[in-house]
Amino acid sequence: MKDQHFEYDVLVVGAGNAACSAALAAQDQKAKVGILEKAPRPDMGGNSTLTGHMRFVFEGFDTVRPLVKNMTDEDLHKLLEKVPHRTEQELWDDMMATTDNMADQDMLQVHVTESLNTVRWLAGKGHDWVPSHQISDNILSMNGGGYGLQQRNFKILEEAGATFHCETAATDLIQDDQGRVMGVRAVTPAGVAIFKAKSVVLACGGFEGNPEMRARYLGPGWDTVRIRGVPFNTGDGLRMALAIGAMPHGSWTTCHAAPQDIGLPHFTCPSTYAIEGNDWVRYMYYVSIMVNSNGERFVDEGSDTRGKTYAKMGRAILTQPGGVAYQIMDAKIRNMNLYHFNYVRATTAKADTLEKLGEELDINVPNFVRTVREYNAAVQPGKFNPDKHQLDGKGTAGLTIPKSNYALTIDEPPFEAWPVRCGITFTYGGLKINAQTGQVQHCSGRPIAGLYAAGEMVGGLFVGNYASGSGMMAGAVFGRMAGNGAGKAAMQS
Ligand SMILES: Cc1cc2nc3c(=O)[nH]c(=O)nc-3n(C[C@H](O)[C@H](O)[C@H](O)COP(=O)(O)OP(=O)(O)OC[C@H]3O[C@@H](n4cnc5c(N)ncnc54)[C@H](O)[C@@H]3O)c2cc1C
Repeated sequence: MKDQHFEYDVLVVGAGNAACSAALAAQDQKAKVGILEKAPRPDMGGNSTLTGHMRFVFEGFDTVRPLVKNMTDEDLHKLLEKVPHRTEQELWDDMMATTDNMADQDMLQVHVTESLNTVRWLAGKGHDWVPSHQISDNILSMNGGGYGLQQRNFKILEEAGATFHCETAATDLIQDDQGRVMGVRAVTPAGVAIFKAKSVVLACGGFEGNPEMRARYLGPGWDTVRIRGVPFNTGDGLRMALAIGAMPHGSWTTCHAAPQDIGLPHFTCPSTYAIEGNDWVRYMYYVSIMVNSNGERFVDEGSDTRGKTYAKMGRAILTQPGGVAYQIMDAKIRNMNLYHFNYVRATTAKADTLEKLGEELDINVPNFVRTVREYNAAVQPGKFNPDKHQLDGKGTAGLTIPKSNYALTIDEPPFEAWPVRCGITFTYGGLKINAQTGQVQHCSGRPIAGLYAAGEMVGGLFVGNYASGSGMMAGAVFGRMAGNGAGKAAMQS
């Protein structure tokens, strides 16, 4: 068997956005960096490769202009009319509103004050932004989406001397007699390998890919749910850190989970995603209504802008009979030709009457027809505006479950239904870190020497719900913090 001993200043476990940000920041400190990736090279890069946006602070044209290439000033001004700014206070409020004020405020403070600095730092590394193609309430996407971001990250890191070890899954942390983390043990196709390092950054995702952990922490029904992203995030880093006494933090019983086409595959990898795109999301609920197989509504589909509700809708759907729901639309909505109708693979049912649509869906028809009629009667006057960047205030009155915004009657045939299921995106529970340095805290309250963490592995920022674009932003902000902290500590030792 091949001798498999490697040594680095900073070892990063995982190759997602958080890991790459940590690796870039460690290189800023002149550290020799090694990166372990469980996936084979074509599928390297984690859920980060499947994304579109980061939610960051910007104060208008002057802050955005340097980030955006290949766009005229005029077009950029026009784009900014949709969302002219996102102040620090607005980002803070977004995160507090979506978490019912339960976000860790120390972490949120760092997240809010560092988001624009981090985006500028990424731009300095060679990244740029383009107009969003309308998937969330962020007006800009990373150029090439998360896939483009990650391919550039790999190139920048490798050109600066970092080594990626693919098909290499970290299994254990190695500590010295004093409890200092001095490396990891990993499984590779050639057997067990030892990676020694002066600092280790764990950035290997949450536990969304692990049915046993999903059932244990998220509860019944979550073991069989389908994953929107990669199958590699099986909570390994969390298990390894908890085994040496790391402090758990944040919400371990909640996660990001969104409505997806009923045909969502069990997982998606970067290599297939690059060809097919993110074609499974079904976010028309906000301008439609959702019913379950009893023909009944079960959630306020318009409680906030779509970017602040989609991540909690998955859980609402999972708790319905059979874990299935139906997004119901009529010709008025269809004729608006909203972005989501471009999804080529959308499973749909269509009929000229509500009764026939209900029969086609095999749901409780009398209940379904009554639900739609009661809903139609409850829709209040006002101007319907499907712009998902702002609330239109057009809601219902008198329903037990209201629809607070984007309420339009469903009365123009043909009627259409999209059957949807819950797809888990990532888990919120993680480790407690020092928000300034990314160092992992021990249950004793002291920091664990040599151990840092970033990305989905860190708990505290997201609880119960989420504002779109925050995962990638947090991964970059705290990845950079952890890489700086790990790099500085390594180079001083
Ligand atoms: C379809 C989809 C769309 C999304 N869109 C957005 C969006 O537009 N904006 C946004 O902010 N968020 C989005 N998200 C959420 C976003 O992907 C995450 O918040 C973010 O990617 C987390 O980054 P990360 O680096 O922590 O994890 P990941 O990018 O998932 O990286 C984890 C890495 O760790 C590796 N790994 C796991 N275990 C081991 C091990 N034992 N040893 C070595 N390596 C290991 C994995 O292979 C992977 O490379 C989306 C998610 C999905 C699934």
